[in-house]
Amino acid sequence: MTIKTIPHFLNGEETNGVGERTQPVFNPATGEQTGELRLADAADLETAVANAKKAAETWGDISLAKRTAVLFKFRELVAAHIDELAQLVTSEHGKVLSDAKGEIGRGLEVVEFACGIPQLLKGAYSDQASTGIDVFSYRQPVGVVAGITPFNFPVMVPLWMAPVAIATGNTFILKPSERDPSASMLLAKLWKAAGLPDGVFQVLHGGKETVDGLLTHPDVDAISFVGSTPIAKYVQATATANGKRVQALGGAKNHAIILPDADLDNAADHLAAAAFGSAGERCMAISVAVAVGSVADALVGKVAERAEAVKVAEGTDPDAEMGPIITAASKERMKGIVTAAADGGADLVVDGRGFTVPGKENGYWFGPTVIDNVGTDMAAYTEEIFGPVLSVVRVETVEEAIELINSNPYGNGTAIFTSSGSNARKFHRGVHVGMIGINVPIPVPVAYHSFGGWKSSLFGDKHIYGEEGVSFYTRGKVITQRWPEPKQHSGASYNFPSTTH
Ligand code: NAD
Repeated sequence: MTIKTIPHFLNGEETNGVGERTQPVFNPATGEQTGELRLADAADLETAVANAKKAAETWGDISLAKRTAVLFKFRELVAAHIDELAQLVTSEHGKVLSDAKGEIGRGLEVVEFACGIPQLLKGAYSDQASTGIDVFSYRQPVGVVAGITPFNFPVMVPLWMAPVAIATGNTFILKPSERDPSASMLLAKLWKAAGLPDGVFQVLHGGKETVDGLLTHPDVDAISFVGSTPIAKYVQATATANGKRVQALGGAKNHAIILPDADLDNAADHLAAAAFGSAGERCMAISVAVAVGSVADALVGKVAERAEAVKVAEGTDPDAEMGPIITAASKERMKGIVTAAADGGADLVVDGRGFTVPGKENGYWFGPTVIDNVGTDMAAYTEEIFGPVLSVVRVETVEEAIELINSNPYGNGTAIFTSSGSNARKFHRGVHVGMIGINVPIPVPVAYHSFGGWKSSLFGDKHIYGEEGVSFYTRGKVITQRWPEPKQHSGASYNFPSTTH
């Protein structure tokens, strides 16, 4: 098996940079090393930021027509390379090919949204705000943006950020996850092929040191981060202390409430898909099913049937519904959490701890797992497991279910399964969560709304993409203008300017 070198992409070219450190990249389905990732050192970071700063001078001033021409072309190129991108995602992340294509499709939505940037940047004009005075406002790019992204969506999350940042006139440095960095290299090549000038989109690989360098560099103006909660919190605190604007999206513990009036087969189908799809490694995965009243026994039975039927195999297998998890370490961590729940008195209804795929025993496998009667003090409830483990918590009323969600520190996504409009309304108005599904288990908003959680799932004020994304990547300007007719000067007034005359 040949091991490929994965370089940086700086100023329109692949380069190993000057940093000498590297890090292995693995195929989680086989446990084999497939790549050797170059890691940036301080000099590489300086080069990337200097390139981005220089490119921002021209890109920030280029016409909207030229910007959108690049975006339209990029959209076509991503769509044409969807199979190649999906292969890269599956080979390093492990998710099944159809799921990888799904994430690319959701990323493309944001590119399409960004193609409409002229409409979004139109600004506002008030004619004759005061006598002979007009006021108008528009927005300009912030400058250099750095995007730091997680392993679980190696195409979609960078596309939540870069198209909007670039469409609004910024330059963008992507620091992807070290675990599955290859897809971002193809994205960089597609940007270049679309006609994006060198230095506007760059990829710089690295770990904590590189992230710290971006968070503190005086020429980086804004940080978009998506990842786990402790790092999101750290990123926000460090980058704001260094004068940058920051949006830092964190982890999650998403609950779905199932009411006795729900269509149980439909709810069980959706719950299983939301818990085990992508091996539970989605920030919008459902990891807690809150069974209300009499629904619990029947629900657990139906979900268990589905969990046992999930076809787990290497992501390239056309029949696979779920692939491996990301690392051997996360497998061990999950095992510990599930074992502790069982030892603590929860009921292990479906146990995926010993699962393996014949012939691929070195892969990082963990079968779908269902734990019933999970206590809210158990790690299976308190921790973000980020794997194919569904915990069932039983409560008596919808009010109790809402209270449970609101007492959880996370607030990313949640869902309700019901046929009652009034309970659904009580739920969406009452939960302290950013994204809510009503009979929809993974309510990832479409690109023309915006994505973001509450509480420990988002640090910063602005959601990602949508109009909030446009606002995050731009600064407002308001111009008050007067063009006096010759010889009609109004003379000096020493009062505070008033608009009523
Ligand atoms: P992670 O926090 O380990 O890594 C995210 C990024 O931060 C990576 O680029 C990584 O290199 C960098 N990083 C890691 N440790 C760092 C440190 N100590 N200092 C500075 N930078 C560091 O997250 P992950 O394991 O790659 O991704 C999974 C997590 O991301 C889960 O918690 C998941 O819920 C979350 N996530 C959230 C969303 C959302 O929209 N809220 C979306 C996707 C993933």
